[in-house]
Amino acid sequence: MDSLEEKVNSVQAVFNKLDKEIAKFQQWSKLGCEFGCGKCCFKPDIEATLLEFLPFAFHLYKTNQAEQWLEKLNSRNQEVCLILNPHQSGAGLCTEYFHRGLICRLFGYSARTNKYGKRELVTCQIIKTNQEQNYKNAVVEIEQGKEIPVMNEFYMQLASIDFELAREFYPINEAIKKAIEKVLHYYAYR
Ligand code: SF4
Repeated sequence: MDSLEEKVNSVQAVFNKLDKEIAKFQQWSKLGCEFGCGKCCFKPDIEATLLEFLPFAFHLYKTNQAEQWLEKLNSRNQEVCLILNPHQSGAGLCTEYFHRGLICRLFGYSARTNKYGKRELVTCQIIKTNQEQNYKNAVVEIEQGKEIPVMNEFYMQLASIDFELAREFYPINEAIKKAIEKVLHYYAYR
């Protein structure tokens, strides 16, 4: 196994751990995305790091789709994530759900720490409105110490895998493009 593949596996291990913690949070809070929603993915200014899209870029490389995706990313100057398919049927609109980024996993089901050191649930307006009682209960339970993934702890776990690739935040399509370029460059010299 080469060092890039090791890095990809380490990132995937952090994602797997996070997904388990999110499942636990969803279970006790009874909060969940509305079927077929995907509204949060339409946000034009989603930012991500190169490292969190390295597993996706590696997958594209392994399935001979990297060049094709790079062409797509270079030819379409759009702010909204290019992985999103607004017409997709089913639970959500992400076409690469297994390989989605860290921000995609955290948003809706994690907490940030405020200036008083208190954890605050970060979730979408649709959940706050349509699942109001469960949302209010969850806010109270989190204040009382109930478990929830904490955003910056997961960013720090990625930074411990590769500080340089986890340091800078780019618009999401730029982060995906840089990850693909990184993988192609790595294998071009091996
Ligand atoms: S990668 Fe998937 S979940 Fe993340 S913003 Fe794009 S479409 Fe949404």
